[in-house]
Formats: sequence, structure tokens, C-alpha cells
Amino acid sequence: MRLSRYFLPILKENPADAQIVSHRLMLRAGMIKQSSAGIYSWLPLGFKVLRKIENIVHEEQQRAGHIPMLMPTLQSADLWRKSGRYDAYGPEMLRIKDRHDREMLYGPTNEELITDMVANFVGSYKSLPLTLYHIQWKFRDEVRPRFGVMRGREFLMKDGYNFDLTKEDALHAYNRHLVTYLRTYERMGLQAIPMRADSGPIGGDYTHEFLVLADTGESEVFYDSEITDLSFGDRAIDFDDKVACQSVMEEFTSRYARTDETHDEATFNEVPEERRRVARGIEVGQIFYFGTEYSEKMGAMVQNEEGQRVPLHMGSHGIGVSRLLGAIIEASHDDNGIIWPEGVTPFHCGIVNLKQGDEEADGACDALYDSLTALGFDPLYDDRKERAGGKFATMDLIGLPWRITVGPRGLKNGVVEVTSRRTGESEEMSPEQAIAKIA
Ligand code: ATP
Ligand code: MG
Ligand code: MG
Ligand code: MG
Repeated sequence: MRLSRYFLPILKENPADAQIVSHRLMLRAGMIKQSSAGIYSWLPLGFKVLRKIENIVHEEQQRAGHIPMLMPTLQSADLWRKSGRYDAYGPEMLRIKDRHDREMLYGPTNEELITDMVANFVGSYKSLPLTLYHIQWKFRDEVRPRFGVMRGREFLMKDGYNFDLTKEDALHAYNRHLVTYLRTYERMGLQAIPMRADSGPIGGDYTHEFLVLADTGESEVFYDSEITDLSFGDRAIDFDDKVACQSVMEEFTSRYARTDETHDEATFNEVPEERRRVARGIEVGQIFYFGTEYSEKMGAMVQNEEGQRVPLHMGSHGIGVSRLLGAIIEASHDDNGIIWPEGVTPFHCGIVNLKQGDEEADGACDALYDSLTALGFDPLYDDRKERAGGKFATMDLIGLPWRITVGPRGLKNGVVEVTSRRTGESEEMSPEQAIAKIA
């Protein structure tokens, strides 16, 4: 993309209403524009990162055999009456009436819709196990929408639902989700720690929230510092292997790590004092096994091998796709702007032409741009007639991992300059070497 032809409405001033750094940087970098409280337009740069995050989520879900689909945003109130949640959900639910006075709602989550669907189509244990998911906009009329996309009212969520014959199978699905989430967040350059969470009115021990440590996080968290040494990395795993998934789950959840809702001072005090940490975190996902609660209410029954009709064991598993942009920026920025992890960067690198209009500089930039594009990379070429300082500031603000700076002086010696956004280190090299370094 050539910047002169792109739409990147950078803000020069710090927006007064943005209280936290990720919100400020997303507004300044022209990624989002608020349309009303907690509701945003995704401008091209923000949209690009959102899609990258979505793609990682899709890839990791499908790697584990989970099946993508798409359910609507608007749902009928009747289904929610069946589960008993229409009244229970309270004012967070946006309720709408259509022209025939039928009660509708903008889905805050999808347990009812999908359980009803599965109840319709699945009648036998032979169709199981089954995990379906989608990535769809949700609406929750939050009391205090704030921090930009972190607590929006309209937000993008991946929500997945497993349907299993037995509790054991459903717990395997739970563990599978835990593994996929570890992989998903790590690919985004994030450490998200599974923490024991509160299962709320449904009950049960099986729920973990994934938290990214950040001072601006809304949850208070308590953990054993050893847990931050763990990473899933590039281990191979067979998602059908119950024992393997279970052992990853145990590895990542055996140390003390809880949110304030489940925190227990006495148990925490058993952790050696020097390893006890109290901090804040951003909830970027949650996994949940809740048994047969919904299937019984929604009539999601199957015939088992003995021919008896039994309710399905279910769980639901969410990732805050749009919130993740904020979380990633909170975890990765400096005074000059965003520092995108390679996995989610909107463009692979920036090309800065120090002397637009200079034949040699323009030619070298065009050649670099063409070579990188031909190799399947996605460079952003700042071809505007602007001062070098302004171009550097823009590149730093939008946070691309690499910047290639091209100017007549360097070209006389056959070199361009390659700068790492993260370390700030610059190196001179030939354009060919620059391409090799980035590729
Ligand atoms: P929170 O505690 O932050 O209100 P939640 O527990 O109500 O979140 P879940 O129902 O677990 O949310 O939804 C799954 C994921 O969706 C959350 O882990 C979070 O990352 C994301 N999410 C929830 N509410 C919002 C929101 N208002 N704006 C952006 N993302 C959200
Ligand atoms: Mg909530
Ligand atoms: Mg929560
Ligand atoms: Mg939650």
C-alpha cells in the first residue's frame, strides 16, 4: 500500500477522552473512530489488525477440529425465555421490537441459539463429539463502556460451543480449548494466563479466564510468579489425545492463579512469599464447562448407545477478539507509539522515502516495494511529500516491526537503512539484504 493512496487519519494531538494508552494510540493511529458510546467504526488500519487476529483464532480453532459457522446478531426473545435468561440477563441486554411487535434482542452471547439448533439437528451419539464456533459481533449495554475497544458495547467475540455425550468427553473439549487458547494468544505475542474464575449462577469448578497482565486491567489477580515462566511454544500436540490435552491443562493450571472472585487468602499464603504476586489483568477469554443445564432446558437430547435419551454435556468458550487489540497494545508500546508483534502487524514493514521526487530514491523505493510485494509481503510505502521527521513519527506511531529508510545519500553507497521498531537499532545494508532480513 502506498500511504498517499491509503486512508490513515492520524491525530496529532492526544485525544482528551482516552484514559489508557491503548485507547489513545488506537485513536491517534487512525485505527478506530467512535460512533457512539462503546460503538466504533473500524478504520482501515484497525480493521486490518482485527482481521489478522480473527485469522489466528480461526486457524487455531480449526487445528483442533472445531467447526466454523455464523449465527445472526439478532435473536428472538422466545429462545431466551426457554433458557430462563431473558429476564435474568437484565439491562445489559439490548431489547428490540420488530414491526409486528415481536420481541427480539441483539445477542450478548449464543448458548440459546446454538443449543436450539443442535437440538434440531442432532439426535444420536453418533454425531458427537461436536464443537461449533463463530466470530460474530455481540452487544452488551455495559454500564460504563470505556477504554475504547476494551469495554465496548458492540464488540467482536469468538464463541465456541462443545456438545458431548459424557462429562469426560466434555472435559476433553474443555482441555482442548485451553490448549488452543494458549497457542492463539502466544501467536499474538501475548502471555495470557489461565486463572481460576467464578462460574457464577451455573456452578461447577470448570471455568478459567485468560488474563493478560497490565496495570490498566479491570480485574485484580493473584498468582504464583512461577506461572509466568510457562509457555506453550511450538510443541506438537494431538488434539484427539485426551491424556496429552489433560496434562497441558494440569501444567498450566496447577499453580495458584485466580481472579479476585475466586481468590482465597489462606491457599494463596501457601505459595512461598517471594513468589506471591498481586496485580491487574485484562480478561481476553474464558472457557467454561457447564454440564447439561442448557441442553435440558432447550431440549438438546441424543440417543446413547443403549438407546436412552440423554441430555448433552456442553461448554462454551469465548475470546474477546476486538478487546485483544487493546490488550496487545497495552502489552506492547513505548512513548512513540504501538509496537506490533509480528503475528498481528497490519503491514510487515514500512518504507520511508527521505526525498520524494528524487529520481534515484523514488526508483529504489519502487523496486523495494515491488520485490517485497512479489514475495508475498505487505509493505506500507510512505511516498508522501513530507518531512522525514513526520514520516518517522508516523511509522513509530503505527508500530510496524521494520522500517526501511531510503535516501539519496545512502543510495550513493548502495545502502538503505533497516530499523527495528522494537529495539530501535538501525543497520545499513543493500536493498537485497534488507529484503532478506525482513523476509
Ligand atoms: P468482562 O468480565 O470483562 O465483563 P465477561 O466475563 O462478561 O467480560 P464473557 O462473557 O466471558 O465476558 O465473554 C468472552 C470474552 O469477550 C471476554 O473474555 C472478553 O475478552 C470479551 N468481552 C466481554 N465483554 C466485552 C466488552 N464489553 N467489550 C469487549 N470485549 C468484551
Ligand atoms: Mg461482562
Ligand atoms: Mg468476566
Ligand atoms: Mg468472562
